[in-house]
Amino acid sequence: MENVQNLSKEASELLDLTHNNKKDLVAMLAPSFIVDFDYPEIVRMLKKLGFKYVVEVARGAEMTNSQLLALTKLHPDRKYITNPCPTIVRLIKSKYPQLLEYLAPIDSPMSATAKIVDKEWPGLKKVFIGPCLMKKFEANEDRKELNILAITFRDLQQVFDIKKIKPRALLKLRRVSKKNEFDIIGGHTRLYPISGGLAQSSGITKKLTDAEYDVISGPNNANKALSEFLSKSELKILDILNCDGGCINGPGMNSKASLDERRKRVIDFYEKK
Ligand code: SF4
Repeated sequence: MENVQNLSKEASELLDLTHNNKKDLVAMLAPSFIVDFDYPEIVRMLKKLGFKYVVEVARGAEMTNSQLLALTKLHPDRKYITNPCPTIVRLIKSKYPQLLEYLAPIDSPMSATAKIVDKEWPGLKKVFIGPCLMKKFEANEDRKELNILAITFRDLQQVFDIKKIKPRALLKLRRVSKKNEFDIIGGHTRLYPISGGLAQSSGITKKLTDAEYDVISGPNNANKALSEFLSKSELKILDILNCDGGCINGPGMNSKASLDERRKRVIDFYEKK
């Protein structure tokens, strides 16, 4: 049983928000959620916890893709580094400042989803739930104006434990009723948490030649790719994530499954879209 004292600051804040329905809450669920939780059971559990709406961050990722494609159309000769990973953004700021000008000036899927939610339901409290500890910094430092509370899947599981909210045990009990479905759904971008998901879901893999885009994950590979970025004259898009294999391997996940099993869960869910 989880103890309130063991909670992160952000998980405590969520717990506080759910007490006495202090504010209407919107859950923005990162696409790797399917590694740690079942759908649609997770929607039922979040609504039981007190969320009014539950949306897929994969929808915001569609906006990220559109913004990147618009940039490449506007500046076909420019090189870009993708920005959804806040660890990579910080690595560039601290170790490769000469590359800052190549970071694509676009919304990350979290920020894009927050904007969609604000338009749909103005004034509600947005809670991003994902696999990433660094998203807390993106929310609190980089995109403070969007007023997002960012927590991890591990934080969420701790809050579920405290509130004694459990998934229903038998599959046959999991009736898919309308109220257990996402209020805003994603599409191709459900592939985003797998390394290369951005390149594939945006269509870059078809639009550009092999030499014009690179897909990189893992800290060692990321450092190498960033140090070689300027010397690769044909390279136009560097799709880069810090965790090995992508966000499905993020540090805020509960799963102990292998990378292959995690990848399979994301692909299976993507194919159900
Ligand atoms: S790759 Fe890792 S560090 Fe980067 S956004 Fe995903 S979970 Fe966070």
